[in-house]
Amino acid sequence: MKKAKDYAWKVLPELLNTEGISGNCGKIVALMEKKLKEFKVKAEKTNKGGLIVKLKGKDNSKVRLMTAHVDTLGAMVKKTGGDGRVFIVPVGGVYPYSIEGEYVTIETAAGKRYRGTVVHNNPSAHVNATLSKEERNFDNISIRLDEKVKSADDVKKLGISVGDYCYFDPRVEVTKSGFIKSRHLDDKAGVAALLSAIDYFNRSKEVPEYETWFYISVAEEVGNGTVSKLPQNCFEIVAVDMGALGYGQTSDEFTVSICAKDSSGPFDYELRKKIVGIAEKNKIPYKVDIYPMYGSDAAAALRTGIDAKHALFGPGVDASHSYERVHRDSLDATTELTIRYILSK
Ligand SMILES: [Zn+2]
Repeated sequence: MKKAKDYAWKVLPELLNTEGISGNCGKIVALMEKKLKEFKVKAEKTNKGGLIVKLKGKDNSKVRLMTAHVDTLGAMVKKTGGDGRVFIVPVGGVYPYSIEGEYVTIETAAGKRYRGTVVHNNPSAHVNATLSKEERNFDNISIRLDEKVKSADDVKKLGISVGDYCYFDPRVEVTKSGFIKSRHLDDKAGVAALLSAIDYFNRSKEVPEYETWFYISVAEEVGNGTVSKLPQNCFEIVAVDMGALGYGQTSDEFTVSICAKDSSGPFDYELRKKIVGIAEKNKIPYKVDIYPMYGSDAAAALRTGIDAKHALFGPGVDASHSYERVHRDSLDATTELTIRYILSK
């Protein structure tokens, strides 16, 4: 188990430093495929670009499905301004306050990459008297390119055009005190736990209780992740996705958060109690919580009409959809709960 926890912690920065925005996850999925190849585990790629790994269990008459998403938030070029600014629209739940000041890479359809910074259109405090008072929106913030551009035409000459993807720098930092600060811990921390669980079952003698599918989705942030190729004999679907921290929440950065209810409604009560029981039995630190503004691939899967119980747990991630943070204790608890659950009846 220690090795599994170490692996999840070690692989996470590499996942975080690999780009992948909903709708454009080629690089991060290629990295996942490389990791699985190292494990000598076969993965099936869906037409949408997601990955499915199937492990046999003691009982193969029904399937337990674990899912996490590698797609993250990002942006897309909407238009170029007369002064050479690049205006963007969000992909997923990106808010202007969470990206102002962030470094960004624009990738053109031809593969050229340009650096820039998201700043206010008139960003100097010594010039703009209303700068601190203006509510930010995608019309008054834009990308200041690190290129000599003065007009929309200059930007066009670089090859930048509408629809180009914009990657915000994740700014990954691993601290001595056991935190990882980064963008996109949602849900790469969950993916790290699943990857570690695959590795665990691959190298240990322990066998999953049931046939287990690991479903790595690539479109959770836009609501249509784990919705295709679901096995009809699937009886439990568990999303390993971040726990939501904040005022009024019980979750924290040092336990695994088990969700009782999110915006889509309550998770399956029996399955939630089973997962809580596994945490209790194995002394895994956990919190049960309600996420007030939250959706997941577990709920997305249920909307397809599949007759399965569903649940969600994951590491507590602070400042979600912004510059996030996770502690190792929380990821350790998530990795262990994932493995113990797969071993459970
Ligand atoms: Zn997520």
